[in-house]
Amino acid sequence: MRPKSFEYHRPETLKEASEILYSNEDAKALAGGQSLIPLMKLRIYSPEHIVSLSRIKEITQKISLSKDSLEIGAMATHDMLATTDSVRNNFPLLSTAAAKIADQQIRNLGTIGGNIAHGDPSANLASALLSADTEVMVYGQDGKKTIPINGFFQDLFTTSLEPGDIVTGFRIGLKPGYRQSFLKISKSDTAFPIAFVASNLKVESRFVEDARISLGVAGPTPIRAEKAEKFLVKKELNPENISKAAKLAVESTEPPDDIHASTEYRRHLLEVLVKRTLEEISTGGKK
Ligand SMILES: Cc1cc2nc3c(=O)[nH]c(=O)nc-3n(C[C@H](O)[C@H](O)[C@H](O)COP(=O)(O)OP(=O)(O)OC[C@H]3O[C@@H](n4cnc5c(N)ncnc54)[C@H](O)[C@@H]3O)c2cc1C
Repeated sequence: MRPKSFEYHRPETLKEASEILYSNEDAKALAGGQSLIPLMKLRIYSPEHIVSLSRIKEITQKISLSKDSLEIGAMATHDMLATTDSVRNNFPLLSTAAAKIADQQIRNLGTIGGNIAHGDPSANLASALLSADTEVMVYGQDGKKTIPINGFFQDLFTTSLEPGDIVTGFRIGLKPGYRQSFLKISKSDTAFPIAFVASNLKVESRFVEDARISLGVAGPTPIRAEKAEKFLVKKELNPENISKAAKLAVESTEPPDDIHASTEYRRHLLEVLVKRTLEEISTGGKK
Protein backbone atom coordinates (compact mmCIF):
# COMPACT_ATOMS: atom_id res chain seq x y z
CA MET A 1 0.00 0.00 0.00
CA ARG A 2 1.39 3.39 -0.99
CA PRO A 3 1.55 5.95 1.84
CA LYS A 4 -0.97 8.78 1.58
CA SER A 5 0.61 11.93 0.16
CA PHE A 6 0.66 15.20 2.06
CA GLU A 7 1.37 18.84 1.41
CA TYR A 8 4.62 20.04 2.99
CA HIS A 9 4.70 23.67 4.19
CA ARG A 10 7.79 25.57 5.31
CA PRO A 11 6.48 28.90 6.63
CA GLU A 12 8.86 31.60 7.86
CA THR A 13 6.65 33.18 10.52
CA LEU A 14 4.55 31.95 13.42
CA LYS A 15 1.56 33.84 12.02
CA GLU A 16 1.78 32.00 8.71
CA ALA A 17 2.31 28.60 10.42
CA SER A 18 -0.58 29.14 12.82
CA GLU A 19 -2.84 30.14 9.92
CA ILE A 20 -2.07 26.93 7.98
CA LEU A 21 -2.57 24.78 11.08
CA TYR A 22 -5.83 26.56 11.90
CA SER A 23 -7.38 26.51 8.45
CA ASN A 24 -6.62 22.87 7.65
CA GLU A 25 -8.25 20.40 10.00
CA ASP A 26 -5.79 17.63 9.18
CA ALA A 27 -2.55 19.59 9.58
CA LYS A 28 0.33 18.90 11.96
CA ALA A 29 3.37 20.90 13.03
CA LEU A 30 6.71 19.16 12.53
CA ALA A 31 9.58 19.87 14.94
CA GLY A 32 12.16 17.08 15.46
CA GLY A 33 9.95 14.49 13.77
CA GLN A 34 10.86 11.78 16.28
CA SER A 35 7.25 11.06 17.23
CA LEU A 36 5.35 12.26 14.17
CA ILE A 37 7.49 10.56 11.49
CA PRO A 38 7.41 7.08 13.15
CA LEU A 39 3.60 7.38 13.44
CA MET A 40 3.40 8.23 9.74
CA LYS A 41 5.81 5.47 8.76
CA LEU A 42 3.72 2.95 10.69
CA ARG A 43 0.64 4.37 8.89
CA ILE A 44 -0.97 5.02 12.27
CA TYR A 45 -1.46 8.62 11.31
CA SER A 46 -1.46 10.34 7.92
CA PRO A 47 -1.92 14.12 8.10
CA GLU A 48 -2.76 15.94 4.86
CA HIS A 49 -0.60 18.95 5.72
CA ILE A 50 2.77 18.99 7.46
CA VAL A 51 3.94 22.39 8.73
CA SER A 52 7.68 22.43 9.35
CA LEU A 53 8.72 24.78 12.18
CA SER A 54 12.37 24.74 11.13
CA ARG A 55 12.47 28.06 9.21
CA ILE A 56 10.59 30.14 11.78
CA LYS A 57 13.08 32.46 13.46
CA GLU A 58 10.67 33.41 16.28
CA ILE A 59 10.71 29.85 17.63
CA THR A 60 14.19 29.09 18.90
CA GLN A 61 16.49 26.64 20.66
CA LYS A 62 17.58 29.32 23.12
CA ILE A 63 18.08 28.47 26.78
CA SER A 64 18.35 31.48 29.08
CA LEU A 65 18.73 31.73 32.81
CA SER A 66 17.52 34.61 34.95
CA LYS A 67 17.52 34.99 38.75
CA ASP A 68 14.34 33.04 39.31
CA SER A 69 13.55 31.25 36.05
CA LEU A 70 14.87 29.21 33.20
CA GLU A 71 13.44 29.96 29.76
CA ILE A 72 13.73 27.32 27.07
CA GLY A 73 12.81 27.73 23.41
CA ALA A 74 10.50 25.01 22.06
CA MET A 75 13.06 23.88 19.48
CA ALA A 76 15.77 23.09 22.07
CA THR A 77 16.70 19.44 21.59
CA HIS A 78 16.79 16.75 24.26
CA ASP A 79 20.58 16.67 23.85
CA MET A 80 20.82 20.40 24.53
CA LEU A 81 18.82 20.00 27.74
CA ALA A 82 21.03 17.09 28.79
CA THR A 83 24.30 18.92 28.19
CA THR A 84 23.72 22.65 28.80
CA ASP A 85 25.24 23.82 32.11
CA SER A 86 22.48 26.27 32.98
CA VAL A 87 19.95 23.40 32.88
CA ARG A 88 22.23 20.85 34.56
CA ASN A 89 23.08 23.20 37.41
CA ASN A 90 19.68 24.78 38.01
CA PHE A 91 17.12 22.13 37.10
CA PRO A 92 19.04 18.83 37.05
CA LEU A 93 15.81 16.85 36.96
CA LEU A 94 15.15 18.12 33.43
CA SER A 95 18.65 17.39 32.15
CA THR A 96 18.56 13.86 33.62
CA ALA A 97 15.09 13.27 32.14
CA ALA A 98 16.37 14.46 28.74
CA ALA A 99 19.54 12.34 28.96
CA LYS A 100 17.36 9.28 29.54
CA ILE A 101 15.30 9.69 26.36
CA ALA A 102 15.97 6.90 23.88
CA ASP A 103 19.35 7.14 22.12
CA GLN A 104 21.69 9.90 20.94
CA GLN A 105 20.14 10.10 17.45
CA ILE A 106 16.70 10.77 18.89
CA ARG A 107 18.10 13.19 21.49
CA ASN A 108 19.86 15.17 18.75
CA LEU A 109 16.63 15.68 16.81
CA GLY A 110 13.71 15.51 19.26
CA THR A 111 12.63 18.82 20.80
CA ILE A 112 11.16 19.83 24.14
CA GLY A 113 8.24 21.50 22.32
CA GLY A 114 7.39 18.27 20.48
CA ASN A 115 7.79 16.14 23.59
CA ILE A 116 5.24 18.25 25.48
CA ALA A 117 2.83 19.08 22.61
CA HIS A 118 2.53 15.39 21.70
CA GLY A 119 0.70 14.76 25.02
CA ASP A 120 2.20 11.30 25.52
CA PRO A 121 2.05 9.97 29.11
CA SER A 122 5.47 8.41 28.51
CA ALA A 123 7.15 11.76 27.75
CA ASN A 124 10.11 12.11 30.11
CA LEU A 125 10.18 15.90 29.89
CA ALA A 126 6.49 16.25 30.71
CA SER A 127 7.05 14.72 34.16
CA ALA A 128 10.09 16.89 34.78
CA LEU A 129 8.21 20.09 33.87
CA LEU A 130 5.14 19.02 35.88
CA SER A 131 7.27 18.82 39.00
CA ALA A 132 8.07 22.56 38.75
CA ASP A 133 6.12 25.79 38.30
CA THR A 134 6.20 25.72 34.51
CA GLU A 135 4.37 27.92 32.04
CA VAL A 136 3.94 26.77 28.46
CA MET A 137 4.35 29.72 26.09
CA VAL A 138 2.10 29.50 23.06
CA TYR A 139 1.41 31.46 19.88
CA GLY A 140 -2.10 31.04 18.50
CA GLN A 141 -4.84 32.69 16.50
CA ASP A 142 -5.31 35.34 19.22
CA GLY A 143 -1.59 36.03 19.56
CA LYS A 144 0.63 35.03 22.51
CA LYS A 145 -0.64 33.27 25.63
CA THR A 146 0.74 31.19 28.50
CA ILE A 147 -0.74 27.96 29.85
CA PRO A 148 0.27 26.54 33.26
CA ILE A 149 1.66 23.02 32.85
CA ASN A 150 -0.76 21.85 35.55
CA GLY A 151 -3.87 21.31 33.46
CA PHE A 152 -2.04 21.35 30.11
CA PHE A 153 -2.37 17.56 29.69
CA GLN A 154 -6.04 16.66 29.22
CA ASP A 155 -6.18 13.06 28.03
CA LEU A 156 -4.18 10.51 26.05
CA PHE A 157 -2.33 12.50 23.33
CA THR A 158 -4.65 15.42 24.08
CA THR A 159 -3.51 18.76 25.46
CA SER A 160 -5.20 22.11 26.01
CA LEU A 161 -3.62 23.44 22.77
CA GLU A 162 -6.28 24.80 20.41
CA PRO A 163 -6.33 24.63 16.59
CA GLY A 164 -3.56 26.85 15.23
CA ASP A 165 -1.61 26.87 18.53
CA ILE A 166 2.16 26.48 18.41
CA VAL A 167 4.27 25.98 21.54
CA THR A 168 7.07 28.54 21.46
CA GLY A 169 8.80 27.83 24.77
CA PHE A 170 8.70 27.18 28.48
CA ARG A 171 9.27 29.32 31.57
CA ILE A 172 10.32 27.24 34.55
CA GLY A 173 10.23 28.90 37.98
CA LEU A 174 13.39 28.20 39.97
CA LYS A 175 13.26 28.09 43.76
CA PRO A 176 16.24 27.55 46.02
CA GLY A 177 16.63 24.55 48.29
CA TYR A 178 14.96 21.84 46.19
CA ARG A 179 16.50 18.40 45.77
CA GLN A 180 15.62 16.30 42.77
CA SER A 181 15.69 12.78 41.42
CA PHE A 182 14.52 11.19 38.14
CA LEU A 183 14.44 7.41 37.72
CA LYS A 184 13.14 5.39 34.81
CA ILE A 185 12.74 1.74 33.84
CA SER A 186 12.68 0.59 30.22
CA LYS A 187 13.66 -2.63 28.48
CA SER A 188 16.42 -0.92 26.48
CA ASP A 189 17.65 2.59 25.68
CA THR A 190 15.58 2.83 22.53
CA ALA A 191 12.46 1.25 24.01
CA PHE A 192 9.72 3.48 25.35
CA PRO A 193 9.68 3.64 29.16
CA ILE A 194 7.70 1.16 31.23
CA ALA A 195 7.51 3.60 34.15
CA PHE A 196 9.33 6.64 35.50
CA VAL A 197 9.19 9.10 38.37
CA ALA A 198 10.39 12.67 38.82
CA SER A 199 10.58 13.90 42.42
CA ASN A 200 11.35 17.49 43.39
CA LEU A 201 11.35 18.21 47.14
CA LYS A 202 12.28 21.06 49.41
CA VAL A 203 13.83 19.51 52.51
CA GLU A 204 15.10 21.42 55.57
CA SER A 205 16.88 19.51 58.36
CA ARG A 206 15.35 16.25 57.10
CA PHE A 207 11.79 17.70 57.14
CA VAL A 208 9.84 18.15 53.90
CA GLU A 209 8.66 21.70 53.24
CA ASP A 210 7.27 21.11 49.74
CA ALA A 211 6.87 17.96 47.63
CA ARG A 212 6.26 17.52 43.92
CA ILE A 213 6.19 13.98 42.59
CA SER A 214 5.32 13.29 38.93
CA LEU A 215 4.57 9.86 37.54
CA GLY A 216 5.13 8.76 33.94
CA VAL A 217 3.11 5.99 32.21
CA ALA A 218 0.78 5.97 35.21
CA GLY A 219 -2.44 6.84 33.34
CA PRO A 220 -3.64 8.57 30.17
CA THR A 221 -1.68 11.74 31.01
CA PRO A 222 1.46 12.60 32.96
CA ILE A 223 0.25 13.07 36.56
CA ARG A 224 1.27 14.41 39.96
CA ALA A 225 1.01 12.12 43.00
CA GLU A 226 -0.97 14.64 45.02
CA LYS A 227 -1.90 12.38 47.95
CA ALA A 228 1.73 11.45 48.52
CA GLU A 229 2.82 15.08 48.16
CA LYS A 230 0.31 16.25 50.79
CA PHE A 231 1.27 13.41 53.12
CA LEU A 232 4.96 14.28 52.98
CA VAL A 233 4.70 17.98 53.84
CA LYS A 234 6.00 18.70 57.38
CA LYS A 235 7.04 15.03 57.75
CA GLU A 236 10.53 13.75 58.35
CA LEU A 237 11.98 12.10 55.24
CA ASN A 238 12.61 8.77 56.99
CA PRO A 239 12.17 5.19 55.71
CA GLU A 240 8.71 4.80 57.25
CA ASN A 241 7.31 7.99 55.69
CA ILE A 242 9.01 7.25 52.37
CA SER A 243 7.31 3.83 52.19
CA LYS A 244 3.92 5.31 53.11
CA ALA A 245 4.31 8.07 50.48
CA ALA A 246 5.28 5.55 47.79
CA LYS A 247 2.13 3.52 48.53
CA LEU A 248 -0.07 6.65 48.47
CA ALA A 249 1.55 7.80 45.21
CA VAL A 250 0.23 4.84 43.24
CA GLU A 251 -3.20 4.58 44.87
CA SER A 252 -5.16 6.37 42.16
CA THR A 253 -2.98 5.50 39.17
CA GLU A 254 -4.32 3.75 36.05
CA PRO A 255 -1.20 2.50 34.25
CA PRO A 256 -1.80 0.93 30.84
CA ASP A 257 -1.85 -2.81 30.33
CA ASP A 258 0.02 -3.69 27.13
CA ILE A 259 2.54 -6.09 25.59
CA HIS A 260 5.37 -4.43 27.55
CA ALA A 261 3.91 -4.64 31.06
CA SER A 262 0.68 -5.26 32.94
CA THR A 263 -1.13 -2.57 34.92
CA GLU A 264 -0.23 -4.26 38.20
CA TYR A 265 3.46 -4.61 37.30
CA ARG A 266 3.67 -0.96 36.24
CA ARG A 267 1.98 0.11 39.48
CA HIS A 268 4.51 -1.94 41.44
CA LEU A 269 7.40 -0.35 39.51
CA LEU A 270 6.02 3.14 40.10
CA GLU A 271 5.85 2.49 43.84
CA VAL A 272 9.43 1.21 43.86
CA LEU A 273 10.61 4.20 41.80
CA VAL A 274 8.87 6.75 44.06
CA LYS A 275 10.52 5.08 47.04
CA ARG A 276 13.95 5.16 45.38
CA THR A 277 13.69 8.79 44.26
CA LEU A 278 12.73 9.80 47.81
CA GLU A 279 15.55 7.73 49.26
CA GLU A 280 17.97 9.38 46.86
CA ILE A 281 16.67 12.81 47.90
CA SER A 282 16.92 11.90 51.60
CA THR A 283 20.61 11.21 51.12
CA GLY A 284 21.30 14.39 49.17
CA GLY A 285 19.61 14.16 45.75
CA LYS A 286 20.57 16.56 42.99
CA LYS A 287 20.44 20.16 44.18
C1 LIG B 1 12.45 4.78 19.31
C2 LIG B 1 11.98 5.98 20.08
C3 LIG B 1 12.09 5.98 21.45
C4 LIG B 1 11.66 7.08 22.18
N1 LIG B 1 11.78 7.04 23.55
C5 LIG B 1 11.34 8.08 24.28
C6 LIG B 1 11.45 8.08 25.70
O1 LIG B 1 11.95 7.15 26.31
N2 LIG B 1 10.99 9.16 26.37
C7 LIG B 1 10.45 10.25 25.73
O2 LIG B 1 10.08 11.21 26.39
N3 LIG B 1 10.35 10.28 24.39
C8 LIG B 1 10.77 9.24 23.66
N4 LIG B 1 10.66 9.28 22.29
C9 LIG B 1 9.98 10.45 21.65
C10 LIG B 1 10.96 11.60 21.42
O3 LIG B 1 11.33 12.14 22.65
C11 LIG B 1 10.37 12.72 20.55
O4 LIG B 1 11.47 13.47 20.12
C12 LIG B 1 9.43 13.71 21.19
O5 LIG B 1 8.41 13.05 21.91
C13 LIG B 1 8.75 14.55 20.13
O6 LIG B 1 9.54 15.64 19.81
P1 LIG B 1 9.79 16.02 18.31
O7 LIG B 1 10.45 17.34 18.31
O8 LIG B 1 10.47 14.91 17.65
O9 LIG B 1 8.27 16.22 17.79
P2 LIG B 1 7.58 15.82 16.42
O10 LIG B 1 7.68 14.37 16.19
O11 LIG B 1 8.02 16.73 15.33
O12 LIG B 1 6.07 16.20 16.80
C14 LIG B 1 5.36 15.45 17.78
C15 LIG B 1 3.96 16.04 17.93
O13 LIG B 1 4.02 17.32 18.55
C16 LIG B 1 3.52 18.36 17.66
N5 LIG B 1 4.46 19.47 17.81
C17 LIG B 1 5.82 19.44 17.72
N6 LIG B 1 6.34 20.63 18.03
C18 LIG B 1 5.29 21.45 18.31
C19 LIG B 1 5.19 22.82 18.70
N7 LIG B 1 6.28 23.58 18.91
N8 LIG B 1 3.94 23.33 18.89
C20 LIG B 1 2.83 22.57 18.71
N9 LIG B 1 2.87 21.27 18.35
C21 LIG B 1 4.09 20.72 18.16
C22 LIG B 1 3.50 17.74 16.27
O14 LIG B 1 2.50 18.30 15.46
C23 LIG B 1 3.24 16.28 16.59
O15 LIG B 1 1.87 16.08 16.80
C24 LIG B 1 11.11 8.22 21.51
C25 LIG B 1 11.02 8.24 20.13
C26 LIG B 1 11.44 7.13 19.40
C27 LIG B 1 11.34 7.17 17.91
